[in-house]
Amino acid sequence: MIKKIFKENGFDITEYQEQQLQKYYDLLTEWNKKINLTAITEYKDVIVKHFVDSALLLKSDIFTDRKAEPIEKCSVLDLGTGAGFPGIVLAVLYPQYQYTLVDSLNKRIEFLHIIKEKLELNQICLYHGRAEDFGRDSEFRDQYDFVVSRAVAELPVLLEYCIPFAKPEGYFVAYKGKKCEEEIERSQKAFQELDCEIKRNQQFLLSGEERYLLFVKKLSRTKEKYPRKAGKIKKNPLY
Ligand code: SAH
Repeated sequence: MIKKIFKENGFDITEYQEQQLQKYYDLLTEWNKKINLTAITEYKDVIVKHFVDSALLLKSDIFTDRKAEPIEKCSVLDLGTGAGFPGIVLAVLYPQYQYTLVDSLNKRIEFLHIIKEKLELNQICLYHGRAEDFGRDSEFRDQYDFVVSRAVAELPVLLEYCIPFAKPEGYFVAYKGKKCEEEIERSQKAFQELDCEIKRNQQFLLSGEERYLLFVKKLSRTKEKYPRKAGKIKKNPLY
């Protein structure tokens, strides 16, 4: 069934990938009874609105044509991954890259350790912590080919959370809904301060809903003062 829904949305997945995603669905719904992982619970909605939506990045050549040498060195960080979106789905469907998933809620990271083990996802690393702290750590800062994030914050805030992690010439990809354009308009100062620019805004229709993947290219190393401390970013965004 998962294979069929993916096919309807233009994705060919293997039987093994279907089995992995089925396991993920089963564990997600089981654990969702104990800890808050997703508000969406109906089978088809989970597959389309979480799984297929997360996979949309694979339709973009910017992501799939990255010429990292060797390819398995291509690194992707998912900031505020929650129950694993989009990070887990990308790791299942595009296992040739390295994935780092970060979230500030430890319960969700604990759940993801179980997913990692049961789905045998050796190419993912999981960390509990905040963007504002990890973004200042030299092990994470200016390191990633791609930073991705879905449903974490409005764009001006999200840029300050995510851009510090990308390499110069690397990309931050924001998964956004229909307010995307509006958020871009309010992010001009953030683009300037964080020295990054929009390369592409790719639109998708998923079950009749507008979805956007906003590709932001980082132009130079992030200034020492960003990201600012937790609280400051949200209280006083870069408008
Ligand atoms: N990306 C997932 C989860 C969205 S909910 C999805 O699309 O379904 C937002 C998640 O971001 C939560 O799990 C929350 O704990 C995390 N989060 C919010 N602010 C954060 C921050 N500053 N640093 C790290 N994680 C954060």
